[in-house]
Amino acid sequence: MQSGGKKIKRMAMRKSSPLGTVFLFLFLSLLMSALLVAILATVMVGTVEPMLTGSAEEMDRIVSAFENDESRADAFGRDYFILDENGEYKALVGEDTCERERSVPYTNFGRPDTGAHRYAVYADEETEKFFPVLSGDRSFEDVMGEWLMDIYGREGIRRLVSGEAPAEELPFWFSADLKNGSRLFVSFSVSSANSAIREIGFLTLGIIGAFAIIILVMFINSVNNIINRRRMLNLFFTDTVTGGRNYNWFLVKGEPVISSYGNRKKSYAVLCLGFEKYLTYSLVNGTAEGEKVLCDAYRAIKKSIGRGDLCVRANTSDFAVLTRIRDGEDVGGKMDLIIKVVSDATAYSGLACRGGAYPIYSVRTQSGRALPRKDADLEGAFNGAVAARETLRELPGTRAALFDAKMMEEQMWENKVLDGLGPALANEEFIVYYQPKYAPGTDTLRGAEALIRWQSPEYGFVTPYRFIPIYEKNGLIPKIDHYMIDHVARDLRRWLDMGYSCVPVSVNVSRIHFAEPDLAEQIRDMADKYGTPHELLEIELTESAFFDDKKAMLYTIGKLKEYGFSVSMDDFGSGYSSLNSLKDMPLDVLKLDADFFRGDMANDRGRIVVAEAIKLAKSLNMRTVAEGVEERSQVDFLAGLDCDMIQGYYYAKPMPGEEFESRMSMAQSL
Ligand code: C2E
Ligand code: MG
Ligand code: MG
Repeated sequence: MQSGGKKIKRMAMRKSSPLGTVFLFLFLSLLMSALLVAILATVMVGTVEPMLTGSAEEMDRIVSAFENDESRADAFGRDYFILDENGEYKALVGEDTCERERSVPYTNFGRPDTGAHRYAVYADEETEKFFPVLSGDRSFEDVMGEWLMDIYGREGIRRLVSGEAPAEELPFWFSADLKNGSRLFVSFSVSSANSAIREIGFLTLGIIGAFAIIILVMFINSVNNIINRRRMLNLFFTDTVTGGRNYNWFLVKGEPVISSYGNRKKSYAVLCLGFEKYLTYSLVNGTAEGEKVLCDAYRAIKKSIGRGDLCVRANTSDFAVLTRIRDGEDVGGKMDLIIKVVSDATAYSGLACRGGAYPIYSVRTQSGRALPRKDADLEGAFNGAVAARETLRELPGTRAALFDAKMMEEQMWENKVLDGLGPALANEEFIVYYQPKYAPGTDTLRGAEALIRWQSPEYGFVTPYRFIPIYEKNGLIPKIDHYMIDHVARDLRRWLDMGYSCVPVSVNVSRIHFAEPDLAEQIRDMADKYGTPHELLEIELTESAFFDDKKAMLYTIGKLKEYGFSVSMDDFGSGYSSLNSLKDMPLDVLKLDADFFRGDMANDRGRIVVAEAIKLAKSLNMRTVAEGVEERSQVDFLAGLDCDMIQGYYYAKPMPGEEFESRMSMAQSL
């Protein structure tokens, strides 16, 4: 149960956060941008290449002309200068606007590399700002698009492509190392009117357009996702009856309230409020009337709790409330008040509202500092409140109950018992005790009942009353029944092999086990595994077994008898329907409940009932066993009634197998 809340919380966190969508959107946008740049760069290299190659070829010519005859360089009509090996500037022609700090090596653009000259491209003062990007991985051509965008803007590019825009020049410098150790710098420029540049502009525009459409689609998709998510969350957290929030929301919202840093100093109470006999009410008055009561109750609770307190319908007619309690405030009193408001609002229904509370107090050090409530568990607290309310079943006049330490202990014990089952079965910590059954007239051993004990390394010797009801409640009892039948069948086989003349041993089988249609076959197979004669095994059904599916019970009892096992009714007389069950079930043995023999049986009425019960069993052809007999007088009385067997402390308490062995050998030697 407890992990359920955590799971819901994790699920809700996953579902509620739009961050994932936003991150995905950003990531995809970035990816698209990177793609765009890569595409542009590739396209530009392809288109600008011939253009720059032209400049580079002219540079080749200038360099060879210059190396032959320095003065011939002037014939090319370009600005240039020389940086000699001593770092001196020479032969300056035109204006030196070369931005010497920023250069990139010329990539040669696929021209056959003659190895003669190594060129570098330098920024011009006018284009300097484009060069920071050039100094990274990107080449000169990559920034052409940026340059165009900077000069013309998107609209400008459109105009440039259509020929409306005036041409612009992008100046740059080529440098080449000369054979004599000096370096020649020559000024070039690329014109925006160049057809290659136009192509770039055209492509840039197209790609940006496509990119914008994709981003827009992604954006719309993301917004849609977020809206859908919100809608889904809303559904996930809405109660269909009250229209308010539901229990999932209560857990997700409430846990941070009780455990977050700022709230440590405060105390809280988790309440469970509900109507008794609500199902009967809605059955009689219709679902709509029933739901009206719930809606009125919900509104009444909401009105009577503080701002920041939480209230939801948790299940059928139960409401979960998380409310803050002030220092010294009486939780019971607060709950009484809410119950009164709810009762007033739903008085027309005549339903009684009752509640349980689980307080969560702040924990402080001696200096008054609030400590974290590490074990704060809202679902556990609500279960505690439910458990507290359940205790009211035995207190008809009381409307509110607080969860107390004893309940807490019981809850913890239940958890330990449930956790302990697996290891206890695996390590054979369960021990079979045998309580002999004697014939009262002759005091001879006639049978035994197998009773479980838990020899736990952690909790010591544990009696069945402390764990059997827990396993029954949680549906785990069939594991115990299997274990017991298996061990008893094994013991019986061993005793037979040792030469004992064994008496029948009865094993308790719980009612829920009868839901398994092949139970009789399972028992048969367990007995046959050891070769234990079926007539030595008796199956004891607790009386409550007969409240279940009668058809299934009859079927399994019939099968068990067919295989040769006896079947007995345990604790006859302790409930309500014993007589009724006797009418329907073809049982072999009737076990009179120990309660008949409590006290001294001086009461005539008690004697009459026991006598008549034994008579009844006899006329139904059943053997009788009296349980819990402690006095000689009771034995004599039962002997007089011709009761077949007595199982009680008068003869023997339940005992370990070895002790029972000596009882058998004693009986045999008599
Ligand atoms: P039960 O099947 O009715 O067993 C009889 C109980 O009465 C036993 O308690 C036994 O020790 C006790 N008893 C017998 N004679 C006397 C007596 O003279 N005086 C008093 N005061 N008590 C007497 P135990 O062994 O503690 O078992 C309690 C119950 O736990 C059993 O009642 C049975 O319902 C359940 N149980 C025990 N073993 C198993 C098992 O292996 N499987 C299942 N499903 N339930 C079991
Ligand atoms: Mg029994
Ligand atoms: Mg019994």
